[in-house]
Amino acid sequence: MKLNNSRRNFISKAAVIAGGQVLLVKPLLSMTPFVNGFNENFTVGQIMDKFISEVPSGILKETVDTLKSGHKEMEVKGIVTSAFATIEVIKKTIEIGANFIIAHEPTFYNHLDDTTWLKNDPVFEYKNDLLQKNNIAVWRNHDYIHRLLPDPVTSSFLEKLNWKQYTTKAIPSLATIPLMHLDQVINYLKEKIGIQQVRFIGDLQQDCSKLLFMLGASGSKAHFNGLRQIKPDVLICGEISEWETAEYIRDARSKGDKVSLIVLGHIASEESGSEFMATWLKTKFPSINTTFISSGPSLSFL
Ligand SMILES: [Zn+2]
Repeated sequence: MKLNNSRRNFISKAAVIAGGQVLLVKPLLSMTPFVNGFNENFTVGQIMDKFISEVPSGILKETVDTLKSGHKEMEVKGIVTSAFATIEVIKKTIEIGANFIIAHEPTFYNHLDDTTWLKNDPVFEYKNDLLQKNNIAVWRNHDYIHRLLPDPVTSSFLEKLNWKQYTTKAIPSLATIPLMHLDQVINYLKEKIGIQQVRFIGDLQQDCSKLLFMLGASGSKAHFNGLRQIKPDVLICGEISEWETAEYIRDARSKGDKVSLIVLGHIASEESGSEFMATWLKTKFPSINTTFISSGPSLSFL
């Protein structure tokens, strides 16, 4: 087992005392504050820096992965990971005594979490007040987690489906599965990820093998590029713009292409990334209480 910094500090201090010498022991690293000899305390910034240090691209100059609430020097009392820091998730975080939420998606309803246009908005104010009054830090980990290799958001989802074995290192988002009809693929997805319904375009009896997974909201241009380059039997998305990707697939089918589309819902498609995040934290920071809280789908089905 690898010793963490504060344990190393503790051991080196203890060794000096045992040796009966009075030496000034300089901490090996200033990363981990040493409190009462045994407690390990980490700041929000230390957790962020540790994760970023493992991303091959390193620090990004432009990123949406900023703190949406709180600051880097805050001491972490417990961490919650979730796809979205919804008001419900924030309240559960407060309930369990945690004070740091690592969310995958925006807190304030737009990609950049720009809040200038939300001034005096009652929903924004309610949520922002809840965070401020309870000293909750929120970090969006989106650009960084997607840059780990392989992208754990996609790979943890494919693991859940037991389909990672059908992917390759070269294209980890493409699974070439043994032939299934489209309706079988849909039912399999629903069962494995526990969703009631999907939206789709295609012939339910179509043979499917090449499945291209573009989870979350990859955007129409990325969808079209993926379709052109990989020519999958099915494109499986988190969410789409109906007037872009869905119409493109409809026209492609009218032209004679045998391509189908399955839309799972954004959260259903990416939530396993937040479960991965919780596992990562428990491994790297075992002394911190970490809880994955499902934000669940925003939309219901009737
Ligand atoms: Zn994502």
